[in-house]
Amino acid sequence: MHNPHELWQSILAEFELKLSKANFTTWFKNTGIKNFEEGEVIVCVPNNFTKAWLEKKYHHDILKTLERLTNQPVKKIEYRVENFKKTVAEEELKTTLTQTTVAATVVIPQPDMSGFATTNLNPKYTFSTFIIGKGTELAAAAARAVADNPGNAYNPLFVYGSVGLGKTHLLQAIGNGILKQRPDMRILYTTIEKFKNDLVEAVRSGNPGKVKNTYRNVDVLLIDDVQFISGKEGTQEELFHTFNHLHQQNKQVILSSDRPPKAIPALEARLRSRFEWGMIVDVTAPDLETRAAIIKAKAKEKNLELSDDIVITLATTIQNNVRELEGAINKITAYHQLKGIEPSVETIKAILINLESQSARRSVTPKTLIRIIGEFYDVDQNEILGKNREKRLSFPRQVIMFLLREDLKLSFPAIGTELGGRDHTTAMHAHQKIRKEVEDDLKLKNEVELIRQRLYNTSG
Ligand code: ADP
Ligand code: MG
Repeated sequence: MHNPHELWQSILAEFELKLSKANFTTWFKNTGIKNFEEGEVIVCVPNNFTKAWLEKKYHHDILKTLERLTNQPVKKIEYRVENFKKTVAEEELKTTLTQTTVAATVVIPQPDMSGFATTNLNPKYTFSTFIIGKGTELAAAAARAVADNPGNAYNPLFVYGSVGLGKTHLLQAIGNGILKQRPDMRILYTTIEKFKNDLVEAVRSGNPGKVKNTYRNVDVLLIDDVQFISGKEGTQEELFHTFNHLHQQNKQVILSSDRPPKAIPALEARLRSRFEWGMIVDVTAPDLETRAAIIKAKAKEKNLELSDDIVITLATTIQNNVRELEGAINKITAYHQLKGIEPSVETIKAILINLESQSARRSVTPKTLIRIIGEFYDVDQNEILGKNREKRLSFPRQVIMFLLREDLKLSFPAIGTELGGRDHTTAMHAHQKIRKEVEDDLKLKNEVELIRQRLYNTSG
């Protein structure tokens, strides 16, 4: 007969090794074994969400590990939502966890960086804060392999994927990971834009060798957003030689881009082939489960308590971008601190609607707005931009000017320009007039709402 508590601690130890720290903390914190008799186990979990998660994702693994550790078949595992009393051992585990976090974030070894000022890595981007999901499994594994064995795993490592999916985070995590194991290594993170600017600046100041000194004198070179090299011949030339120099000496190069090398337009063939030499991995949008795990981890970082309902609401509403998830968490944290009340599903929904419409509004262009309002009032766009002052044209024109100001926050002179070179006073007048009419006239108010719906839903 095993001591259930010790048994569970062994299980936790195994899972802690297998999972990322964030995943481990999210799903296994405050869990425990209540009972283990005749092959039947009761596992206590803090809430329904964790229960569902363990049942779905980790049940098989937990079962197998239990059987292996106890050397007997496990007939049944019941996950029960129950406040598991914190034991001394757990407190200790928690303390070690916090201590390692502190050590990882505060003690940043400073290698000898003569040649450039600092490593310019952001200590907040580490592997432990990166939540791995289906869309990032391979990229994260490759990144870890490179961090554990720079210069020898994959060289270069090329990570691509659309915005806000963790490319910069992964690049920096590689840098930080290497730095932790090898404080002697010179690690340089840069963006292709910075690389280009340094090059231009070096040439301008009559010291072109400066770029060589900086970029060829490293053990690890991380270059972010390399897609912007498109069409820049001088930069491509310099990068080509930098790459060769580093690669020949087994120095690690890691690149990120919003698209794979072959899709970067106006990229020299020789540079493209270099980009493709090592390993190419993509990152794709996180699935629901991963989004939930990310939300939980980010909320925890902010000491924000979120109910399972809220986590699910967030994870189902914000679907394709981790940056937006973070934005929502920040907004909720700020709101929560400001109002001093517990976030509820209702307030979260209100905050989300606000966020959604804000980002939708930002993405609508004046041209789209003009087109959609033109369609709404069934008038030709060219006529709207023209000189004819008939009411059937002047009215939609005024509504356009009103919304360009109200929603897209264009300046009055800019609005004049968008409408075929009209004076800014015309735009001011139109804005004032429609604003007043919307207040007084229910029909117009509804019209404007309808237009807004069309505008901001079509872009979503
Ligand atoms: P990209 O460079 O691909 O545009 P970033 O790396 O800047 O994206 O990610 C945007 C934000 O989302 C960052 O703050 C990052 O820490 C966070 N983030 C992205 N993916 C993850 C993830 N899988 N786990 C935790 N945080 C993530
Ligand atoms: Mg980035």
